Amino acid sequence: MTYPNTQLFINGQWCDAESGRTLPVFNPANGAEIGRLAHAGVADLERAAQAAQKGFEIWRDTPANERSAIMRKAAALMRERAPQIAELLTQEQGKPVGEAKVEVMSAADIIEWFAEEGRRVYGRIVSPRNINVQQNVLKQPVGPVAAFTPWNFPVNQVVRKMSAALATGCSIIVKAPEETPASPAELIRAFQDAGVPEGVIGLVYGTPSEISNYLIAHPVIRKITFTGSTPVGKQLAALAGQHMKRATMELGGHAPVIVAEDGDIALAVKTAGAAKFRNAGQVCISPTRFLVHHKIAEEFSQMMAAHAQSLKVGDGLVAGTQMGPLANERRLVAMQAIVQDARAKGAKVLAGGERIGTEGLFFAPTVLSHVPLDADVVNNEPFGPIAAIRTFENIEDAIAEANRLPFGLSGYAFTNSLKTSHLLSQRLEVGMLWVNQSAAPWPELPFGGIKDSGYGSEGGPEALDAYLNTKTVSIFNA
Ligand code: NAD
Repeated sequence: MTYPNTQLFINGQWCDAESGRTLPVFNPANGAEIGRLAHAGVADLERAAQAAQKGFEIWRDTPANERSAIMRKAAALMRERAPQIAELLTQEQGKPVGEAKVEVMSAADIIEWFAEEGRRVYGRIVSPRNINVQQNVLKQPVGPVAAFTPWNFPVNQVVRKMSAALATGCSIIVKAPEETPASPAELIRAFQDAGVPEGVIGLVYGTPSEISNYLIAHPVIRKITFTGSTPVGKQLAALAGQHMKRATMELGGHAPVIVAEDGDIALAVKTAGAAKFRNAGQVCISPTRFLVHHKIAEEFSQMMAAHAQSLKVGDGLVAGTQMGPLANERRLVAMQAIVQDARAKGAKVLAGGERIGTEGLFFAPTVLSHVPLDADVVNNEPFGPIAAIRTFENIEDAIAEANRLPFGLSGYAFTNSLKTSHLLSQRLEVGMLWVNQSAAPWPELPFGGIKDSGYGSEGGPEALDAYLNTKTVSIFNA
């Protein structure tokens, strides 16, 4: 599929920005400009907000089973179009096309799960204190939603928000990532082709802060949902608070991976190693801080280094590529600084540690050992293909180290002890813990963090709750 220019989607129509302004889109594997996207201004945003209100009034009154049928059709279209959408995704984001296809196919699964769950949004009847009273608790959609999504999973980050909003009867304006605009636009097109009424979905791109300032303050918007970095999340949450808007925040993480003395080293390297370099490490739940029992640390480190060195890095469209380029120049600069800082503070570079070539944003899968506690990599989210290994002597120390940072998104552990598993599940300050496996964030499971990693959930029934108001109705009939 040739890479297209991307337009805005407002009130059921694909359109250019009123100003005609556009931005370039680049392929991170070679730096080439591959297309342009429309840059919304205030006039476009205002039209999108008005359309979202109109769309909401239609969609909230559409029976849940009809909404569900339309959503299921969109899921089927995503499956049908997955090979083409995956190619676009790889061209704009860099990940291997196989990973991109998994992202698109899992979007279809997510849509279907929410389509079904949306049919099971029930209120309740509460026993009254007076026989002439009927007390009902209603669950109603919050209203038009503004969603802000990042470039690491251009389709997945949109689909979780959009599916929960649509399943509950909300309309939604998505500000999708400017760096990776075409694949989320294809997601929106699938919903359009499936028959979602005009105004129910809007898609805009532009200057992120302009759009969030405008939409969060807008009286039509009742809820915001954001995935991205903790500093930006804090700004948007503050803005939401100022305007009394509901908010879901899915922010950064710094996932600890505890490999206990009794853990299966080969399994840990195979699963956490694969997860570490998936999407070149640009994943909020990516394993980052490997805390390994000192007796097995040497063996583990050597195996991780060998795994990293074995990976084929290249253009995601080329068959056999296991890791693509970083998605943007900012990540490349960050990786170089992280390694330089760790080296200067005494860490050993067991694999990678530097840029590959000069064309494209390729960075070698990197494994650092003997990383001191003051190194940047074990304090700030690396968001790239760097594994940092530290050792521990007893499990209590590993728990303390895992909980030391303000983040609390995902955690991993490898242990064959039921006692250790239980202890970790009680004590690790994370929103999701995966033991003896890599993350499997199925749509039916809650997905979200605690502490500085945000609040709210993007999976499970909790994800729908976030788009629902609760209304008490008490009716007296003498
Ligand atoms: P960034 O903090 O500038 O932006 C992160 C995301 O927020 C981007 O999609 C951006 O468009 C958006 N954004 C920024 N300012 C905004 C605003 N005022 N209003 C609305 N949206 C806004 O950082 P970046 O360089 O794009 O990404 C690097 C960092 O972001 C990473 O280190 C990581 O911590 C975080 N990140 C997290 C996720 C995630 O899945 N949780 C995804 C992408 C990036």
